[in-house]
Amino acid sequence: MEPAIIVHGGAWAIPDEEVEAHLRGVRRAAELGWRVLKEEGSSLDAVERAVMLMEDDPTFDAGVGSFLNREGGVDLDASIMDGELRAGAVASVNRVRNPVRLARLIMERTEHLLFVGEGAHKLASSFGLELIDPGELVVERERRRWEEFKAKGMSPRKAFEKSTVGAVAVDSRGRFAAALSTGGSPYRMVGRVGDVPIIGAGLYADNGKGAAACSGHGESIMKVVLAKSTVDMLALGLGAMEAARAGVSLLERVGGRGGVIVIDRSGEIGYHYNTPRMAIAYARGGVVESLI
Ligand code: ASP
Repeated sequence: MEPAIIVHGGAWAIPDEEVEAHLRGVRRAAELGWRVLKEEGSSLDAVERAVMLMEDDPTFDAGVGSFLNREGGVDLDASIMDGELRAGAVASVNRVRNPVRLARLIMERTEHLLFVGEGAHKLASSFGLELIDPGELVVERERRRWEEFKAKGMSPRKAFEKSTVGAVAVDSRGRFAAALSTGGSPYRMVGRVGDVPIIGAGLYADNGKGAAACSGHGESIMKVVLAKSTVDMLALGLGAMEAARAGVSLLERVGGRGGVIVIDRSGEIGYHYNTPRMAIAYARGGVVESLI
């Protein structure tokens, strides 16, 4: 089968001055994922590597550069899933540089699926991941954004400044995978968790059907179990683009804003969003496209 990868750098009102960095970042992530697929790597490796690259890029709300919570700290969530219905996830971590890496290790080395906070940190350390100072994830741009939110007392929903990075891929053996990572919404309440670590809501992969990954208002995404609902539409015969559009319509039933990226069982790419912008890049047949 022809391998393919699509990545996103978040569906939100990406400011004009951040557009170029977002485009560059998603393109690099899609190129990296594509290289993995081209060298016969698995879709799981491709989505993990692409998401790790975006976690390490301070442009995005994931890993370093994440939005800050109401107390000025960072809370990270991430998940990964393959088409054999294996999955791993973490929520509310702030001492690992690459939460998606930890999610994959949870999937592969434990009999559990989701770990949070201190327990997740202990597990990370037992897996040999470096535990960092949470301050290392904070960048000056986000400190300033946090000051503005604090001064205006703005609700994150009103500004719909939320974001996430994600990737969906299929490899030459027809195996699907999806991964997500986020710092959540800016100024979020401490302890709030969105859709990203919730399998079926933020992401879903099922060999023979396809895979999807979301971004946007997590509470709305969870209510309509957006990623699984989108993959179910693929199973009913909708193409990737149609399913992405139908997924966003479903999100609108609960007044949600966001976007979804999809690959269907024939390897076609799909995406749709109802936010002002969504950073997207995809690669198929060696051609990489990016758009915002
Ligand atoms: N879905 C993420 C959350 O609610 C944020 C986003 O993707 O915009 O935590």
